[in-house]
Amino acid sequence: MKTESAKSVMQAYQLRVKRLLPGGVHYNFHLPWEETPIHFVKTKDSRVWDMDGKEYLDLYARFGALIVGHGNREYNECLKETIDRTLSVSHCDMDAEALELIAKFVPSAEMIRFGLSGTEIVQNALRLARAWTGKNRFVRFEGHYHGNADNIMGGRRAKTGEPVPKDFPGDLKGTLGRARDCMESQSYLLPWNDADALEDLLIRHGDDIAAVITEPVCVNGGSVMPAPGYLQRVRELCDRYHVVLIFDEIITGFRLGLGGAQAAFGVTPDLTTLGKALGGGGVPVSALVGKKEIMQLLTEKKVIHAGTFNGYPLGLAAVKATLEILSRNNGAAIDRMNSIMQQMHAILKEEADAVGLPLVIQGPPSCASFHLCSEPLANPADYTFDLLALDIILNNNLARHGILVSTVSRLYPNISLNEEDVEWFREHAGRAIADTKEIYD
Ligand code: PMP
Repeated sequence: MKTESAKSVMQAYQLRVKRLLPGGVHYNFHLPWEETPIHFVKTKDSRVWDMDGKEYLDLYARFGALIVGHGNREYNECLKETIDRTLSVSHCDMDAEALELIAKFVPSAEMIRFGLSGTEIVQNALRLARAWTGKNRFVRFEGHYHGNADNIMGGRRAKTGEPVPKDFPGDLKGTLGRARDCMESQSYLLPWNDADALEDLLIRHGDDIAAVITEPVCVNGGSVMPAPGYLQRVRELCDRYHVVLIFDEIITGFRLGLGGAQAAFGVTPDLTTLGKALGGGGVPVSALVGKKEIMQLLTEKKVIHAGTFNGYPLGLAAVKATLEILSRNNGAAIDRMNSIMQQMHAILKEEADAVGLPLVIQGPPSCASFHLCSEPLANPADYTFDLLALDIILNNNLARHGILVSTVSRLYPNISLNEEDVEWFREHAGRAIADTKEIYD
């Protein structure tokens, strides 16, 4: 539909969408298409094309879910075959393969249940932890994200061990969990990478704490790595105070290698939440995996876990195909993906250095972030709103010049990346850096 103000096919289309879709977007995040709407019509490997025919390198990768690349033939064939054969049944003949592949690679996966989103599976993990320990509250950390549920969002710079303050930056209306009484009854918010703060809290309140939930690498807080020995100490403290340790590996799972962060750091949590790359990027699927003795509560029906589409065949087909593709040749595809991504990191840094723009890239190559500052963030709480605003400028400039990145400033590679993509990155990132430098000055 053409309107007077639309300058292109896509702009006209966006106006049509916007009439019915709040903000014209499917979620409220800082993504380039909030500023300049983008609707995609075609994809191949690492590239996507919008309605006006513009080509992009896709390092947004559907918030990190896309790991097999767009149009991966083996993956798509597996999904198509499933659509034709068993699309709408519960329990199909791919259950065993999908379960066994996860159990083979993820150290904590003694038993597994499937869901659709990360948000819901995190809630199931918390519920199991409460049931297992007979305790109520949980500990979470500043700058971490565990889904779009009221009891687990928000909160920055709270005093150690204190409940979340009532008015804090980023407060969102209508979110129950942000009300003080609800927070107080459910969670403690702590600074991350500070095992002493956790120990101090557990000494005082350990008898009411069921779980500690953490991203093992805090990707959502700017791709901050755990301090050496930190995760090990968290593990010891959880054991000492009979607290369930939950690793939220919804981003790191199958990105930091097939065993995720728990294999990479040699720390096995009691429960793990998986999502995003677990399903390759094409369909939603998540999983709660963990120790048999805890997961057994589901076998015994002592804890409810429900969901109309849990274990749906298309999701299991996606898990099976993804893990078969990623695990071939000892995970060579992930290694190659990481080394190509590191070349892009080096280019971005060189381009920034060349024009005198301060820039750091931090985190594992498969889920790193860049920031317009001169020192890496040591803690997610250091990711200030001012820095975030600067990063968003570069995010938007990259998108204008044909490189899509994820919220916020994250670069998510997929296994189809190749040398041509590196060259594309060099050319287009350079222009985005130059434009950003102009604004920065
Ligand atoms: N945990 C983490 C670490 C995440 O990054 C996300 C999504 N960004 C979630 C949980 C929630 O997953 P979903 O969006 O599938 O509900």
